[in-house]
Formats: sequence, C-alpha cells, structure tokens
Amino acid sequence: MNQAKQLYDLDLPALQSLIESWGEPAYRARQIWEWLYVHLVDSLDQMTNLSKSLRKRLDADMPIGVPEAIDRVQSEDGETRKDLLRLADGETIEAVLMHYEHRHTACISTQVGCLIGCAFCATGQMGFRRELTGGEIVAQALHFARILRARQQRLSNVVLMGMGEPLLNYDATLAAIRRLIDPQGFNLGQRHITLSTVGIVPGIELLAGEEGHHGGPLQITLAVSLHAATDQLRDQLIPINRRYNLDRLFEACHYYVQRTGRRVSFEWALIEGVNDTPQQAQALAARLAGLLSHVNLIPLNPTSNYAGKPSSRAALDAFTKELDRRLISYTVRLHRGIDIQAGCGQLRQRSQSTDNAANRIN
Ligand code: SAH
Ligand code: SF4
Repeated sequence: MNQAKQLYDLDLPALQSLIESWGEPAYRARQIWEWLYVHLVDSLDQMTNLSKSLRKRLDADMPIGVPEAIDRVQSEDGETRKDLLRLADGETIEAVLMHYEHRHTACISTQVGCLIGCAFCATGQMGFRRELTGGEIVAQALHFARILRARQQRLSNVVLMGMGEPLLNYDATLAAIRRLIDPQGFNLGQRHITLSTVGIVPGIELLAGEEGHHGGPLQITLAVSLHAATDQLRDQLIPINRRYNLDRLFEACHYYVQRTGRRVSFEWALIEGVNDTPQQAQALAARLAGLLSHVNLIPLNPTSNYAGKPSSRAALDAFTKELDRRLISYTVRLHRGIDIQAGCGQLRQRSQSTDNAANRIN
C-alpha cells in the first residue's frame, strides 16, 4: 500500500524511506514524526526545524492530512461535542468528544457510512460510501487532542465507536491503533482504547491474535454491539447475525478473553417492547455465564428512519433486576449527548437532510 497521499497515512518506516528518497537525512523523519504525534501540529509551517524547501515539498506531495471541521454541535451540559469533519475528497465523517469525570474520550469513525445496515442506526441508514485510511482514523483523535491541549488537557481515551464497522476495515483500523499507542509518538495506553464491533467473527479472532507491546497480546477493550440475546430477535435488528450467529459470536468472545485476559463489553441499546423484556435479560444472562464480561445498557437514541423508542424507566428496572439476580455486571449509561444526537451518523444525517425539521436542534 504505497499510495499514501498524506503524512498521517505513513508509518515511521514509510516516512523514513520517503524522506530518504528525497535525499534528506533520515533523522528528518523522526523530527516530522514528533511534530505530528508529540507536538500535535496541524500545519507544516509549525515544523520549524525543517528547511523551507522540505516543507514546500511536503506541502505539494505529502500534506499532513488534517481534516476540516465544518459543523459542530455541543450538548447543553457542555459534556459532549460532536464535530463533522471533511476529508480531502469532500466526504464527511463524525467524531465526538466526551468529558466525563477526569476523562476526555474521543469517539471516532472508521468508515464513511456502513454496509451492515442495523435497523436503528443512522449510519446504517445512510449506506456505505468508503473505507477510511488509517491516517483518516488517527486524524480524528488528533483533532480533539489538539483542542484539549490548548486547554492544558489530554485526550485520555479513544473509542472506535463512530461511523462504520472497524473490523470490516481491519488493516486501517489496526494501523490507527498502532499509531495511537506508539510510545515514541502519541503514546496512548492500550487499555484506553475500545473497539466496538457489530460481531464480525473472523475479525474478532484476528484481533485476539494481535501483539501489543513487548510481544504480549494487544490490550485494547473489545466491545460487542449485542442488543439481542436470541438469534430470532438479533436477526431482525442486526442483519449480519444471519452470517455470524450468537453461538459463533460468543465462541469468538470466549477466545478473545482467553487470548487477551481482557473482559469483553457488550452494548445493549434498550428499545421499548423489543429487547427490554425480562426474557431477553434472562437470555442475555445465560449467554454471559462463565464469560469475563460487562454489559453497557444505553437507552435507544431515536433516529429518523426507525420507529423504535427508548425503553421506559420501569422496563429498564425490570431488565436490570433480572441481571442483578444472575450477578451480571452492567452499567446503565444514561443519555449524555442525546440533545446533540450523539448517536453515530446523526450529525451527518442532519447536515444532509433539508426537509427533516424534527431532527434539527438549532
Ligand atoms: N459498527 C460498530 C461501531 C459503530 S456503532 C458497532 O456496531 O459496534 C457504535 C455503537 O452505537 C454500537 O454499539 C451501536 O449498536 C450503537 N448505536 C447505533 N445506533 C444507535 C442508536 N440509535 N441508539 C443507541 N445506540 C446506537
Ligand atoms: Fe454499522 Fe455499527 Fe451502525 Fe450497525 S450499528 S449499521 S454495524 S455502524
């Protein structure tokens, strides 16, 4: 893959060979690397220890690849902001920054759109447009890291939970993760990264075998968007379940835990009358028996093309009671950012719709 057009798409060896092919000393590559991932600059002019001619050449042949923020919404409580970023070819993606206690978490996209088509998901509703490159994935985290740095804060967590399915864009996603955890670059802790998947079984198996630092397993958190614990229901909500059913999915999750020693998270968006029944809670608990796991319960974020509603408090309480009874570990994530449509794909949907007043917030 040597068609990279942006600095963010190069790993250090690729940057080194580019720089050397231009007749520049090899150490220039390391300098550029530090400007990008340690100092977080967003323009070549800021790379003050490079010659003007090198900066000019970079500008012409290998620009940084900083996306342009073209729209932004902020939640009323100030805890969540969502930016719409425009890429070099004009495609747009969403990235979200959340502040919670002392953590600053970026939620970033891995594809423009998504071909899985989960019924309730705004990204799924728009279809698939293209893969993001590793550089375009990393650039979203750097975008927020830069904003935080200006306030003397640090990006503490990255979740690959924005638009798209990361395990269907495996190589670019892994390249981005490796870039983020590079000790000589951005240096984010592996355990501060979460990858959310709809349940692409071969991808989970591959991920389980990835190396992190010093030959040990890659220590990121795997989150699986489960949302249903019977094949009958999951087939309806998440079409890929027909390819990788729950038995296969859980087999892969057990394998992931066995290889990495990490607990797996399961995402569950509670939809009134659909997956918030005591029967589903019982089926969920049965699936999780003997698995190192944690469930995140989230009320459904309504989207314009799906009729489902978030569950009532009473249904939530009945659901969690079943989990309590079976000693299942879970967290209820009340809706932060609902007023800015922090659900993936919703800002892009908003900026593209002209007739959808109900979906607008400003
Ligand atoms: N494709 C990956 C990652 C992106 S989706 C995946 O599906 O896991 C990120 C998360 O948002 C997933 O858990 C997804 O199920 C959830 N999600 C999508 N639409 C939602 C909605 N309308 N309400 C609540 N959660 C939603
Ligand atoms: Fe794709 Fe995830 Fe949305 Fe499903 S929930 S359509 S897999 S982005």
